[in-house]
Amino acid sequence: MVDWSGGNDTGSAPRKDAIWACVAREGEAEAPVYLRNRDLAETWLAELIADELAAGRRLCLGFDFPFGYPAGFARALTGRADPLAVWAWMAEHLEDSPAGNNRFDLAGQINRTLGDGPGPFWFNGLKREIDGLPRGLDGRVNPFAERRAAEAQASGTFTCWQMGGAGAVGGQVMTGLALLHRLRGRFPGQLAAWPFEPADRPVVLVETWPTLIDTVVRARTGPGDIRDAVQVSAVAGALSRLEPATLGRMLDVTAPEEGWILGLGHEAALMAAADPLAPPPLRNDCFALPAGVDWTPVDAALALLRDRLTPVTGPETLPLGAALGRVLAAPVTALRANPPQPNTAVDGYGFAGPAPDGPVRLPLCEGRSAAGAPFGGVVPAGQALRVLTGAALPEGVDTVVLDEDVSVGRGQVAFHGPLKRGANTRRAGEDVAEGEVILQPGRVLTPADLALIAAVGLGEVAVRRPLKVGVLSTGDEIVEPGAEAGPGQIFDANRVMLLSMLARFGVAPVDLGRVPDDRDALRERLDGAAGEVQAVLTSGGASAGDEDHVSALLREAGALQEWRIALKPGRPLALGLWQGVPVFGLPGNPVAAMVCTLIFARPALGLLAGRGWQEPWAIEVPAAFAKRKKPGRREYLRARLRDGRAEVFKSEGSGRISGLSWAEGLVELADGGREIRPGDPVRFLPFSAFGL
Ligand code: AMP
Ligand code: MG
Repeated sequence: MVDWSGGNDTGSAPRKDAIWACVAREGEAEAPVYLRNRDLAETWLAELIADELAAGRRLCLGFDFPFGYPAGFARALTGRADPLAVWAWMAEHLEDSPAGNNRFDLAGQINRTLGDGPGPFWFNGLKREIDGLPRGLDGRVNPFAERRAAEAQASGTFTCWQMGGAGAVGGQVMTGLALLHRLRGRFPGQLAAWPFEPADRPVVLVETWPTLIDTVVRARTGPGDIRDAVQVSAVAGALSRLEPATLGRMLDVTAPEEGWILGLGHEAALMAAADPLAPPPLRNDCFALPAGVDWTPVDAALALLRDRLTPVTGPETLPLGAALGRVLAAPVTALRANPPQPNTAVDGYGFAGPAPDGPVRLPLCEGRSAAGAPFGGVVPAGQALRVLTGAALPEGVDTVVLDEDVSVGRGQVAFHGPLKRGANTRRAGEDVAEGEVILQPGRVLTPADLALIAAVGLGEVAVRRPLKVGVLSTGDEIVEPGAEAGPGQIFDANRVMLLSMLARFGVAPVDLGRVPDDRDALRERLDGAAGEVQAVLTSGGASAGDEDHVSALLREAGALQEWRIALKPGRPLALGLWQGVPVFGLPGNPVAAMVCTLIFARPALGLLAGRGWQEPWAIEVPAAFAKRKKPGRREYLRARLRDGRAEVFKSEGSGRISGLSWAEGLVELADGGREIRPGDPVRFLPFSAFGL
């Protein structure tokens, strides 16, 4: 990415409004490069192109000036409606050196050639008059549009017709187009000029406009930073991080004469790629289990998820009213102390404390202080003022005596001491100090959190975007609830359950429907989902049998990790990344699907959503049942509390949905063997501990 400049040599010390360039590879921007003049920049660019071509890499070369003029200009100047003919014309006629260039004379020359009157170029920045180049807009004639179609859509651009004045880009365009023409000549056939030529050559020249990601640039520019340097780095990084499909859509533009700004109309995608908090992709091996282990203990599997999964949702800023339940993306710092100034905690009378032991009489001062209507004056020593709850303490008051403890009459207030200095008042900042960090990233915002944020002066917060999680049911036998079901068919119970569980987990459920046991249909559905959601839960087909198409498909794509967890209920889980999106292939049995979702998917989704690792809380209670448990697997029993004891469902059958509905939580039995008798302590995890 190059920030071009039409100005003269800017000296040896890096400074703004100079030429800046930045190379980004694979999403990482290198240090921005300061180029003091156009000669140096051209040499630097030619070397970069030569190096990249030699290394067999492709290069997307972005410049921040228009690649074309408004429609009609190319034909008027060169006789052909071809923007590349204008590039050649500029290269032929522009005289350029680090000390200066002939852009004003060239603008005058073009205006004279067009012969319609003084214009379209304007603004003579020189002392001498230039034939055909008006100093201002008075009397100027412009037979073309003032702006290109792209500029009409991009607010805040300068026109290519303006040759001088602060921010003008006329000279940048002329010197820039001449540069591009020469670079194309140095590497014949290697440089494609987008969008005039297809972007299929090793080097593609694109027009960019850093203002498209201005909020990111502003957020990243610290005191002492050079904005141009931050800009090139941000744009280069963003373009380099774009998904190929997204970049493809941005490049799919028809603008044969005027050119186009890359990313215009796709600002959200560009911003997401530019965002400094944009999360990195998950590691490819994030679900890999240690080799050689036959059955992985639940705790080992959980530790592995905890270790490998990272947040995948980017940030956005929301007003407080829209932020409930969202995950904080950045620490929240108090803009103002709470309370902001000392005030009274009660209705009463304020004075300078302390008050001595025994009867006290103070003359009343004229006026009062109420919340929102403070007393402007000073309360003289030895006097008291009427104060109402929440009112700022005026100068001369640091102590308040309660209404209930006084008698008032004849311009005086009387009460019995002693009263400590500061009694019945609130100190400024006694709750929260200004600048204090009140909430940490990862926090799920509660109503009280929103009150706290509001109280310290913020109207909006940076939160993570909701994690979108798709739910897909698989199986030839599955039909839609309420529909006609033939013999051998069963209603889809899992999908509505999983979607509802996700809603309770505070992520955004996305219904991906049902697919039969057909690999192509499943592949197509997952492909579609990968662009839309950030995680997928499937149910059914996750084992290693002939009809287990979820695991088969993931295996075929080289993405399957078959998890054989020492857990009951739950057969193997199929985990994998589908186009970078984690897929949790859950068992089809509703009981196993629910337990695996609670135990594995919920904490994993919490990490992906940025809220950190969540452990459900549990309580130890006496068992109301007897059971002999074999060693080797952790077990979860459908359970509920009655009279302080844990009852378990009459059957452990994994297809018994009625037991799930009967239960109010799970009893967790540790991996080892155990003989449980009524009254023995067991661990009970209420469903509410999982957020259900
Ligand atoms: P599978 O894991 O595909 O072998 O399925 C195990 C059992 O779960 C089978 O009896 C399926 O019919 C049942 N099953 C699979 N998907 C669902 C679903 N969405 N709703 C209810 N039961 C299901
Ligand atoms: Mg099945």
